[in-house]
Amino acid sequence: MKEVTILDKTFIKYIPDEEINAAVDRIAAQINHDYQDEPPLILITLNGAIVFAVDLLKELTISAQITCVKVSSYQGTESTNHIKNLIGLTDDVRGRRVLIVEDIVDTGRTYKYLWDMLQEAGVSDLRIATMTLKPDAYKLDLPVHYVGFSIPNKFVVGRGLDYDGYGRQLRDIYQLKID
Ligand code: 5GP
Repeated sequence: MKEVTILDKTFIKYIPDEEINAAVDRIAAQINHDYQDEPPLILITLNGAIVFAVDLLKELTISAQITCVKVSSYQGTESTNHIKNLIGLTDDVRGRRVLIVEDIVDTGRTYKYLWDMLQEAGVSDLRIATMTLKPDAYKLDLPVHYVGFSIPNKFVVGRGLDYDGYGRQLRDIYQLKID
């Protein structure tokens, strides 16, 4: 499928399945190497990161544990300044290494929110693995440790990323078509 239509918008294929799988393998190899001495608690951000996280987990050889949080800052195709904490942290993370798994880092507001929350909760070490990063929109000094793809500042769907709740199941990543 070169194009998909979701609700009122058309999206063009941008990153094919095989390239995403290769990026998953590359990141998994880095994580397996970096965490071999002390495995992390993997913190998956619902809903978007589910697909990337499952792909990644299947390639991990370290004995990581997982947990989930749900925060939301997007409406339609626009980021909002306000972050809602819909499902909070349920695990005791004090003194633990935590690896956040994200589908996308855009402005970094969500990452900063999680960073502050986890530092406050006393993590010993905090890193992030994200399938995609928008460097032109990213406004923070915080390091982004594992990145699948650096992408332009355009709205994307697929591989867990949605447009108003749809499109998460697409294997490839699609970019909003602007006529
Ligand atoms: P940030 O807080 O970094 O600005 O945005 C992070 C969240 O915004 C992501 O977890 C995701 O839910 C949403 N988001 C940002 N850019 C996109 C995009 O291009 N496509 C989709 N589907 N969601 C995005």
